[in-house]
Amino acid sequence: MKTLFQKILDREIPTKLAHEDELCIAIHDINPQAPVHVLVIPKKPIVRVAEATAADQALLGHLLLTAAALAKKLGVAESGYRIVINNGRDGGETVPHLHVHLLGQRPLGWPPG
Ligand code: AMP
Repeated sequence: MKTLFQKILDREIPTKLAHEDELCIAIHDINPQAPVHVLVIPKKPIVRVAEATAADQALLGHLLLTAAALAKKLGVAESGYRIVINNGRDGGETVPHLHVHLLGQRPLGWPPG
């Protein structure tokens, strides 16, 4: 069974693309929790950060640098933003294909709920 994000990567489900390169895509979240809420999704189907290996080190770095570049592009680099990776049930993960949330353009509370 393909995950939701694999279907989006395979262009079976339409999405609002914010970025694409050879290693990842970034899409606007369908249920945004902040005015800027983008998901950076590796094309490689890593299930979650806990399943990543040393071979994924450069890719994981690429996802973070892409999120930071998107923060600049989307105008939240100055005001600040949050990068989140939900891992597993208690972490709030709902789609078992690794993704990095970029949230910004409003003050974000801490600790998270
Ligand atoms: P997580 O809960 O960390 O697994 O994040 C999954 C995210 O995917 C949630 O923020 C959802 O709102 C988002 N999402 C679900 N379906 C879609 C979709 N079709 N397009 C864009 N984002 C989606």
